[in-house]
Amino acid sequence: MARGVTYIGGTLLLFFRSCTIVALGWGTMRERTFCIIKPDAMLARQEGKIIDALLGAGFDIVQMRLVRLDRATAERFYEVHRGKPFWSELVELMTSGPIVAMVLEGENGVAALRRLVGATNPRQAERGTLRRRFGTSTTRNALHAADSAGNAAVESSLFFAPEEME
Ligand code: ADP
Repeated sequence: MARGVTYIGGTLLLFFRSCTIVALGWGTMRERTFCIIKPDAMLARQEGKIIDALLGAGFDIVQMRLVRLDRATAERFYEVHRGKPFWSELVELMTSGPIVAMVLEGENGVAALRRLVGATNPRQAERGTLRRRFGTSTTRNALHAADSAGNAAVESSLFFAPEEME
């Protein structure tokens, strides 16, 4: 009888331990996302601090490339904003100098990066976010961060070949 109770007790203990492990793991997953350090932050020589902050926040850099966007690529990248009042200013900015394109990976990568980057308008971005720290206007807001896993994949593929992201 006592042995049976010990057995049941041991089984229950194992069950609850498993539940704890599942609960701790629940809601987190390694996920890739896509990020650009925009020309305004590059001109201000802030790319080192930005990359340091990304690494400090736990992101792994899967791929990284310094590129200069031509007009056609910049327009394709921001196609959804064509015709909006800030369109010309945005394309001008994105073609004004080199950018750093990065594929990043982290826990809940897309949402975590958006949180770290902050609101579009740096003045409305929370203290400590990268746009609050490095952005100077709504257009010149230092970084782009993909807004979904699907868009992250599409945007990454504009800069990196599939074999570069294995
Ligand atoms: P986010 O980059 O925060 O996802 P959007 O996708 O809406 O924001 O806009 C893309 C980029 O266009 C922004 O990062 C910013 O550079 C620029 N932008 C967006 N809205 C405005 C605005 N109202 N005025 C000036 N520039 C803007």
